[in-house]
Amino acid sequence: MTDGRTDGLRKRVFIRTYGCQMNVYDSDRMTDVLRPLGYALVDTPEQADLVVLNTCHIREKASEKVYSELGRLRATKLLRQSAGGDLTIAVAGCVAQAEGAEIVRRQPAVDIVVGPQAYHRLPELLAQVARKAAERRDGGVRRPGAGVLDTEFPAESKFDHLPPPGIVRAGSAFLSIQEGCDKFCTFCVVPYTRGTEYSRPVAAVLQEARTLVAAGALEITLLGQNVNAYHGEASDGATWTLGRLIRSVAEIPGVERIRYMTSHPRDMDDDLVAAHGDVPQLMPYLHLPVQSGSDRVLEAMNRGHNRDLYYRLIDRLRSVRPDLALSSDFIVGFPGESDADFDDTMRLVADVGFASAYTFMYSRRPGTPGAALPDQVPDNVKAARLAALQALIGSQQRAFNESKAGATMPVLFAEAGRKPGQVLGKSPWLQSVYVEGEAALVGRIVDVRVDDAYGLSLSGRVAAGVPFEAAA
Ligand code: SAM
Ligand code: SF4
Repeated sequence: MTDGRTDGLRKRVFIRTYGCQMNVYDSDRMTDVLRPLGYALVDTPEQADLVVLNTCHIREKASEKVYSELGRLRATKLLRQSAGGDLTIAVAGCVAQAEGAEIVRRQPAVDIVVGPQAYHRLPELLAQVARKAAERRDGGVRRPGAGVLDTEFPAESKFDHLPPPGIVRAGSAFLSIQEGCDKFCTFCVVPYTRGTEYSRPVAAVLQEARTLVAAGALEITLLGQNVNAYHGEASDGATWTLGRLIRSVAEIPGVERIRYMTSHPRDMDDDLVAAHGDVPQLMPYLHLPVQSGSDRVLEAMNRGHNRDLYYRLIDRLRSVRPDLALSSDFIVGFPGESDADFDDTMRLVADVGFASAYTFMYSRRPGTPGAALPDQVPDNVKAARLAALQALIGSQQRAFNESKAGATMPVLFAEAGRKPGQVLGKSPWLQSVYVEGEAALVGRIVDVRVDDAYGLSLSGRVAAGVPFEAAA
């Protein structure tokens, strides 16, 4: 049974992560917090004593998925209890932050609701759950919905209370450097769920980067809801921007690849643009969401930039790094988006040319200004626009992939492929690359000659002369 004891007994935790890379990072950090309590990760909720759902609130569908999963977990918990055991259920992440006590009201089987700023307090929350369980064993009754809640934005930073990171996946690691957002795009819940912008101090970031390299990281992806708004304090009191931080991370011996996401067009300063030209480890791939190609819609979204700023930015970036591949986020069907506005988005995509992109139908989020706007776009119109946009971006992605056929490129191998004997890695442009090869490739950067290009991936073989080359 899960009771948060620190007596070294082996306990098992299953963490399901929804949403963005920030959540992947947070799930790893929760694992780091739970490890000293004796928790080991398992692959299914059925094997676990503690299940954590690390949730996403960005679109309605994402948060509804959480409640369906909680329904299934409740059934598992009841089964366990009828056999004399138990299952502790925790909801973390942005749904926890946004809905708080409402979660326990809708699903009384939930034991813990913990917001993204309070993960370092998980041991304390588990101990509270354990105390309540002990009271019940002593004759008390469990009141439905008696879960423990922590959705504060505490004065202390969770980063100061988390243990050093212990997770590097196959040579690649995430490093969260910034959280929260002050931009208040009118469609977005992030400023409400993640709070105001906060940048971690430079020394803490560099120390974490060194720890990750020592644990085997070759690639570090710097993360933030608005990562290029980074303004971390250095030990001499100076404020560092992202460009300067990237240059310092690049100086750490062993760092071979640097990426960052997600950035905002408004925060791409000259130094960061220049870094794309003069930091060799900074990969030639940038995720730079534009959301829409219509100035009218961009204004209604409160993005603080227009289409022209985006074009000029792309020109500057490509002038310092001609092989830079771009990716973006797009929302179709924002309130008031007309056919002409959508045509502007299609034109922007055609003009810029993307190597990939995430496309979303606008989802009305309670509490955001967009939800109250008139002229909500009907679902069938949104769906038709989404299909047209995806077709265009899909054809650009295929063309980009095809442009790499015949090239030899370094690939960071991440995992076994779906087919036996296949290994999967990432190109500098974040394309998936498959080769026939040994599992020993995982976690290494090895030159690959690309033979074939597809819509979503490349395939090839380890280049001639490289130790992992397949026998002819
Ligand atoms: N900070 C990033 C930026 O400004 O581009 C984006 C962060 S957000 C977690 C990721 C993406 O979700 C956004 O870029 C946007 O395209 C999408 N998104 C956010 N709110 C949405 C909504 N209400 N409906 C549809 N998509 C949404
Ligand atoms: Fe959301 Fe806009 Fe902030 Fe990005 S910049 S997190 S889209 S409010």
